[in-house]
Amino acid sequence: MTHEYDAVIVGGGGAGLYAALEASKTAKTAVLSKLYPMRSHTGAAQGGIGAALGNVEEDNPEWHAFDTIKGGDYLSDQDAALILAEEAVHAVYDLENRGLPFNRTPEGKIDQRRFGGHTRNFGEAPVRRSCFAADRTGHMILQTLYQQCIKNEVAFFDEFHLLDVLFEGKKCTGVIAVELRSGELHTFRSKAVLFATGGFGRMFKITSNAFANTGDGPAVVARRGVPLEDMEFYQIHPTGIKGLGILISEAVRGEGGYFRNRDNERFMERYAPTLLDLAPRDIVSRAIMTEIKNGRGMRGDRKNDDWVLLDATHLGKEVIQAKLPDITSFCRTYLGIDPIEKPIPVQPTAHYAMGGIPTDLHGRVRSDGEGGIYEGLYAAGECACVSVHGANRLGTNSLVDLVVFGRRAGAHIAEFVKGASLGALRKDADGPAREEIARLTDGKKGTHAGRLRDRMEDIMMNKVGVYRTGKELTEAIAELKSLRDEYREVRVQDRSRAFNTDLLETLEIKNLLDLSYVTATAAGNRKESRGAHARDDYPERDDANWLKHSLSWLDGDKVKIGYKPVDLSRWQPKPRTY
Ligand SMILES: Cc1cc2nc3c(=O)[nH]c(=O)nc-3n(C[C@H](O)[C@H](O)[C@H](O)COP(=O)(O)OP(=O)(O)OC[C@H]3O[C@@H](n4cnc5c(N)ncnc54)[C@H](O)[C@@H]3O)c2cc1C
Repeated sequence: MTHEYDAVIVGGGGAGLYAALEASKTAKTAVLSKLYPMRSHTGAAQGGIGAALGNVEEDNPEWHAFDTIKGGDYLSDQDAALILAEEAVHAVYDLENRGLPFNRTPEGKIDQRRFGGHTRNFGEAPVRRSCFAADRTGHMILQTLYQQCIKNEVAFFDEFHLLDVLFEGKKCTGVIAVELRSGELHTFRSKAVLFATGGFGRMFKITSNAFANTGDGPAVVARRGVPLEDMEFYQIHPTGIKGLGILISEAVRGEGGYFRNRDNERFMERYAPTLLDLAPRDIVSRAIMTEIKNGRGMRGDRKNDDWVLLDATHLGKEVIQAKLPDITSFCRTYLGIDPIEKPIPVQPTAHYAMGGIPTDLHGRVRSDGEGGIYEGLYAAGECACVSVHGANRLGTNSLVDLVVFGRRAGAHIAEFVKGASLGALRKDADGPAREEIARLTDGKKGTHAGRLRDRMEDIMMNKVGVYRTGKELTEAIAELKSLRDEYREVRVQDRSRAFNTDLLETLEIKNLLDLSYVTATAAGNRKESRGAHARDDYPERDDANWLKHSLSWLDGDKVKIGYKPVDLSRWQPKPRTY
């Protein structure tokens, strides 16, 4: 079946919905989502959305932009970070006006709390910048945006799974998706396509990410020749529930919680004397791993299973119940522990992709490092790389990224479609997707993709995690390459058409394998330590040689690497101390 729209948005999370809301002001807009939109990972965001409202103490967007850039270890594009910080203020009030139920100060203003790396006056002390609706901020954002999209008559194609993207030269002309309910292929022709498919934490064994976070958008465009930016930078969050990876929000530390090791020490004093437990995530995750490596972690039963404690017991029942209700129930459900009474056992967990589809400040996808763009192709949210987060994202800055750059991309689309026309549709547009599905379901004997996924998760966790070395990265690249070779022989067990989740999972695993391969290769290529990319064999940041974005082109089993300059228009890079 073929559909025609002015704008097709792939992804119904915060970025996709905000873009749809803006685009639909002039464009006939459709949102495709493999999940029912309200189940997008944005709904899991607990901690809040950062904006320098200055409601609780003095703050301003310039400080927010500086913190973002310093937090990103100076790899953030500074023009983008300034836009992020300035437009965050408007975006939060806009969400409030659209009905988002933020927590309030006694005077009735939006309440704000502390978060890692957010500071007053260029690093002096922590500042209260995160706006929140208890620990359910993302959930509230989705609810607010979805109802507004319905009002604007955006068409929703729920449980439609993107398989391919169509190009006519450098012009994007639409996408191919499969409908879960029927197994039928659908072709969406459109003047503009925006990818907002979210993250890909499922590359790793221990992750805070939902099962659906498999990087379908970046993988699909990469296979069609679009470069991916800064893929070596993957954030490992310090506080996942021990053994499970389910996120314990930084909001626990924002409210005053802190870490302790087996000697009862507040060990962050050693690593970040000013910001302590509220240092940026890369620094805190490395601190935890160092404590564990030096025998000061709590001892696990198995190898590589040690952990540290996150203590919130001193915050008191009232604060915990009012401001961290979801976290409390996670701890009760998954650990049988009440954080009001006992510290929470935590380990680092794979959390956020700083890299992704490269875009300019309007969400237009770049085709190279020299300013080339694809016509009619946009990306926003976690699957995109503007880049505001540089080498390490600060907490609460992803939700800002979604609404600020989702909105900018949507607004650009609303203008762009006025003068654009639909591209020609190739006769066999859905041919490659159809052939892939036919191969996977041809009934021949083959490995089940789940086995490859388990091996990939181990490789990524053990060799492309918090600390990396050249030797381990070389091994990881070779091992991932052979998993990609093995994938060619994969077959699904379920060959039915309707609700074939076996098939869709198999296709998702292919996407994860491709992105893992690119990530490991880009990490092997970058011979320095910066932000979340920490190499034992190159422990220093090397601005002389590496203050540049990487671009990776996936071409069969080769990854070609190029570079793009960093916008340094506002602040010169300095050593990073907290
Ligand atoms: C547990 C957790 C807590 C977090 N807390 C915070 C926080 O407090 N503050 C903060 O700033 N950030 C937080 N983050 C990060 C932030 O929530 C995410 O980066 C952000 O929500 C991603 O939004 P998105 O719109 O890009 O994608 P998502 O919300 O992940 O949505 C992706 C959409 O794409 C669709 N999609 C994907 N693949 C396909 C396909 N093949 N076909 C069709 N549709 C597809 C999905 O159906 C979904 O609708 C948190 C993340 C996690 C995991």
